[in-house]
Amino acid sequence: MMRRKNKRRRRAAFGIYFLLVIAVLMLIGGIKLVVDNWTTPARASGMGIDTGGSGDGWQLLLVNRWNPIPEGYAPELTELWNGESVDSRIYSYLQEMFDDARTEVLEPYVNAGYRTNEVQQSLMDQEVEDYISQGYSEADAREMAEQWVAVPGTSEHQLGLAVDISMDDNGSQSAVDVWQWLMENSYKYGFILRYPEDKTEITGIAYEPWHYRYVGKEAAEDIYRRGVCLEEYLGN
Ligand SMILES: [Zn+2]
Repeated sequence: MMRRKNKRRRRAAFGIYFLLVIAVLMLIGGIKLVVDNWTTPARASGMGIDTGGSGDGWQLLLVNRWNPIPEGYAPELTELWNGESVDSRIYSYLQEMFDDARTEVLEPYVNAGYRTNEVQQSLMDQEVEDYISQGYSEADAREMAEQWVAVPGTSEHQLGLAVDISMDDNGSQSAVDVWQWLMENSYKYGFILRYPEDKTEITGIAYEPWHYRYVGKEAAEDIYRRGVCLEEYLGN
């Protein structure tokens, strides 16, 4: 009698213990799931490591004054007719965009594409010099220059994914017409107006109607429709 009771008690204790282990395991699993969901977007926006050709991470690589270009980033380049060059992966989209713009009697051309660190540095030095020659102190000159020229290592032009687009005045149309057309159509080809007028606080760069950045068609359309800038899109 006593023995049987003990056995039953032991069995009941084992059952409770078993249920407890299951509950703890389920809890750990649940927490892990929540944490995973939590960290996925952060990982997606921190794709700075992906410099290679595999995957789409390169399209959304964020480079600004707070996020310098990954060290050793060296895109494969394609040279344009005027000597400027861009990342080979965006060349066909750029070409397609320009071809369609030409059907609207526009003659866009790339003023600036890929830049090396050295070129970016000399642009910065020149801009600072210009302000100093206008009578500004070096500190002020530097601060003002940085509104217009990215600090070397923080320019999208060093990615090869950004282009400054201009146009020769052809009598009937001007650069402003090109920029207007690009503002409305560039997303179809995967490009965004990178520094909108109402986002300068977030981008850290003054309004640049000529600067377009390739981010891929999907992201470009989303950014265009939502009226956000790349930093907002990536949750930074
Ligand atoms: Zn630019």
